[in-house]
Amino acid sequence: MSDSCCGTTAIEIEQFTTTQQASALPVVVIGAGPVGLAAAAHLAERGIDFTLLEAGDRVAASMAQWGHVRVFSPWKYNVDAAARRLLEADGWMAPDADWLPTGAELIDDYLAPLAKLFGGKIRFGAKVSAISRLGYDRVRTAGREQAPFLIRLDDGTELQARAIIDASGTYTSPKVLGASGLPAHGEGEVFVDHALPDVLGADRDRFEGKRVLVVGAGHSAATTLLALAELDDTPITWAIRAGNATRAYGGGDADALPARGALGTRLRAHVESGRIRLLTGFFTHRINAIGQGVEVVSRDPSGHEQSVTVDRIVSATGYRPDHSIAAELRLDLDPVLGSTRTLAPLIDPNQHSCGTVPAHGADELAHPEPGYYAVGVKSYGRAPTFLMATGYEQVRSVVAALAGDWQATRDVQLDLPETGVCTSNLAEAQEQRVGLATGISGGLLSASLPLATVSAAESGGCCG
Ligand SMILES: Cc1cc2nc3c(=O)[nH]c(=O)nc-3n(C[C@H](O)[C@H](O)[C@H](O)COP(=O)(O)OP(=O)(O)OC[C@H]3O[C@@H](n4cnc5c(N)ncnc54)[C@H](O)[C@@H]3O)c2cc1C
Repeated sequence: MSDSCCGTTAIEIEQFTTTQQASALPVVVIGAGPVGLAAAAHLAERGIDFTLLEAGDRVAASMAQWGHVRVFSPWKYNVDAAARRLLEADGWMAPDADWLPTGAELIDDYLAPLAKLFGGKIRFGAKVSAISRLGYDRVRTAGREQAPFLIRLDDGTELQARAIIDASGTYTSPKVLGASGLPAHGEGEVFVDHALPDVLGADRDRFEGKRVLVVGAGHSAATTLLALAELDDTPITWAIRAGNATRAYGGGDADALPARGALGTRLRAHVESGRIRLLTGFFTHRINAIGQGVEVVSRDPSGHEQSVTVDRIVSATGYRPDHSIAAELRLDLDPVLGSTRTLAPLIDPNQHSCGTVPAHGADELAHPEPGYYAVGVKSYGRAPTFLMATGYEQVRSVVAALAGDWQATRDVQLDLPETGVCTSNLAEAQEQRVGLATGISGGLLSASLPLATVSAAESGGCCG
């Protein structure tokens, strides 16, 4: 029998796996970040066998990269309900519900103890390089739904699963510097720091006394710029695509959120005093390594060029999802955001901030490939409106679906106040409590830059 009139003769693949055999396989969760671990907690609670594959050699390897940054949502929104139940049964004491933890605190005080409960079900150093269906490429249909998933790791080993919860995040696929979404010429040949280096901590020596360029208009860029401004003899250049930084500064004294306004005001003051040199209309086009430094050349759409020569580049241009590992699966992706098409209007940064995204679950996350769910920040694609709390509700619903509990699947709820979780008010309050006024871990410095006033697509939005 042939698959097509003019193609190769198809090899008849036996129906080597019955539905029962496939359903006896574990669920594979990809990524031991907060959402992947929450998925594991829900699977454990429901008694569903699972294996969690984590590329890094530790829990929450991506979050560990920005461990020095204080988040702006307090503990009460950062702990998954099933994870809390499992941890409390093990004697865990929840941290102060109103405290804003750093990424490192989230790991040490919550995610690492949670991961310990799962023992050998988590495999570290297990980077997934591809997912398919056993014996099925993307085109083959008959019997597809009964075939187990095939997961290949980058060391070549393979395993099978009855379903996949892909919580691999977006942190490892930052957007490029090139202004049109393509890498700038030469971008791959120079070292570029991605968002939120620990400028005042572990990375200080690499920045102090160096000429630094920060590219991007969001809160990650602002956070890095304000930290750099604390270093002596460190010339700072800030490059944005927009014609001016008004939107990035926010409303200043008139801003609805005082701390947000203060952040923008501080940034503006540094620009106006000359401490930070602002380059507007900067469309990164080419990067040339020259001697010890790099020349970064902008070419705007009219062809006008400008350039700057620096020692270090920090790219704070945001993240995008990498769907390449699932290229052999049938995905239905929104052409703009790269989320599912059903989810896209619910998370659209033109309409929503983190706090106004409605609750959603398995129905909105489903692809034409039954049993494959991308969850967590990856599920949002390029939308910067993600919160851990929404990811926790996603995995509660997805695991309920895998358990066949359709009532729980569809009973999606989110207890997020429209304001108060995604704003810098909390950061300001903590600033007052602990007196942090400087440093990248400080409340104000980790406040989200203008949600309302900067195009989220430019800004990197509320969450980084
Ligand atoms: C600086 C910053 C501040 C933020 N602040 C907040 C906040 O205040 N409140 C809030 O709710 N949210 C915040 N967020 C957004 C979001 O909640 C976090 O990004 C969160 O870490 C997302 O969780 P995740 O589990 O979906 O993905 P991640 O935390 O990114 O975890 C993904 C995991 O998958 C692993 N992985 C990646 N690829 C593979 C692969 N191929 N195979 C196996 N493993 C893989 C990674 O190593 C990583 O451990 C912030 C984000 C950033 C960057």
